[in-house]
Amino acid sequence: MTVSRIRRALRSLVTGLAMWRGRFVADYAEEEPDRPMPRTLHAVGEDGHLWFAVFGCPCGCGETIKLSLLPAGSPRWQLTDHWDGTVSLRPSIWRQRGCKSHFWLRRGKIHWC
Ligand SMILES: [Zn+2]
Repeated sequence: MTVSRIRRALRSLVTGLAMWRGRFVADYAEEEPDRPMPRTLHAVGEDGHLWFAVFGCPCGCGETIKLSLLPAGSPRWQLTDHWDGTVSLRPSIWRQRGCKSHFWLRRGKIHWC
């Protein structure tokens, strides 16, 4: 087994554990998914550059939330990937439309405001 294969295997184990604990985990992709997977924050980008994050609204309204991760421009969010497979976003997410949810995503957990 190569080092990268071991790393991948460990990563999926750690991510699986985080999801089992009901936490949000990161999924890195080059294309936006048609529908976000449950408890998954899809980080879309290319060549190590992240463009935006896509995930289902945690309130259960069924809406998809899309946030810019580009360093330039505003508003923008900062994604942190933790060793345990969970993710954090900064600052908080406040939906101006629909359900008007306001929350923080910290270490894969939703903290309602
Ligand atoms: Zn919602």
